[in-house]
Amino acid sequence: MKIINDIDTMKKWRNKGKKIAFVPTMGGLHQGHLLLVELAKENADRVVVSIFVNPTQFGEGEDFTDYPRTVEADLALLQVQGVDCVFMPSVEAIYPNGMALDVKVGEIGGILCGKTRPHFFNGVVQVVERLLEIVRPDVAVFGQKDYQQLHIIRQFTLAGSDPEIEIIAGKIMREKDGLAMSTRNQYLSVDERNIAPQLYKTLHQLHQGELDRKSASRQLQHYFKLDYLEMLDANTLKQITDNTSKIAILCAVFLGSTRLIDNIIFKRG
Ligand code: AMP
Repeated sequence: MKIINDIDTMKKWRNKGKKIAFVPTMGGLHQGHLLLVELAKENADRVVVSIFVNPTQFGEGEDFTDYPRTVEADLALLQVQGVDCVFMPSVEAIYPNGMALDVKVGEIGGILCGKTRPHFFNGVVQVVERLLEIVRPDVAVFGQKDYQQLHIIRQFTLAGSDPEIEIIAGKIMREKDGLAMSTRNQYLSVDERNIAPQLYKTLHQLHQGELDRKSASRQLQHYFKLDYLEMLDANTLKQITDNTSKIAILCAVFLGSTRLIDNIIFKRG
C-alpha cells in the first residue's frame, strides 16, 4: 500500500488504463468507511483513500482540533482491506493560497445541516473539488449517511466540475442497536451511547407509519435536542409533490455536545 503526502506524486500515481475509485475520508475509520472501500474495489481496478481533516468544513467552536486522528489504526485497517494508495496531504498542500471560502453552494447548502452549520457545505465542496482534481478518479464513493452532502456533491460533479466522474453511494453501516456508525460516536459518554439508538428507532417508527412526524419529533425531543426532522423528496430535497418517487426522512439531533445525523431513504409506496 502506497502512502502519498505530496500533491505532485499523487497526480502522477494515476495509472493510465486502470480504473481508479476514490474514497475521501477524514480518518477515524470505522466499518462504514470500510464498506465504501469494498464498494470502491467492486467498481474499479485501483482504490485510493484520502485521510484529510478538512478545516474549512468546521465552524468556529466546532471540533476541528479534537476530531479523532487515528492514523496508525486507519492505515492498518486500509492495508488489510487491500487499498492500493492512501493520500494524506497537509492543510498547506491542499490550500496553498489560504483557506478563503468561495461560497458556491446556494439554497440547498442553507437548509437542513446547512442551517445549523452555514460554512459546512461550502467547505465540503471546496475540499472535494480539490481532491478530485488531484486524484482524478473514474469513480468516487460517498456514504448515504451524509445524504445532503451526497446530494450536493452529485449536483456539483454533474454540474460541470468533473462530469466524467461517476458518483457511487454506499449504504449506512449501523451498530447492532441501529446507531449509524460515525467517527463522532467516540465522543458519547456511556449514558449518551445508551440513548443514541433512539434516533434510528424513531426514524424507523416514522418510516413504518407507527408514528407521524409530529409524534416522532416529540419522541426525539424527549431524548435529544432536536435540530431538524424532515420528510422531503429524496431527489430534490424539496417538499414532497405528486411527482415524488423517493422520500427522504432526514434528521439531526444534539446529544450533549455531540451532533448526530441519520436518515432513511425509501421508494414511495
Ligand atoms: P467522514 O470521514 O466522516 O467525513 O466520512 C467519509 C465518508 O464515509 C463519507 O462519504 C461518509 O458519508 C461515509 N460514512 C460515514 N459514516 C458512514 C456509515 N456509518 N456508513 C457508511 N458510510 C459512512
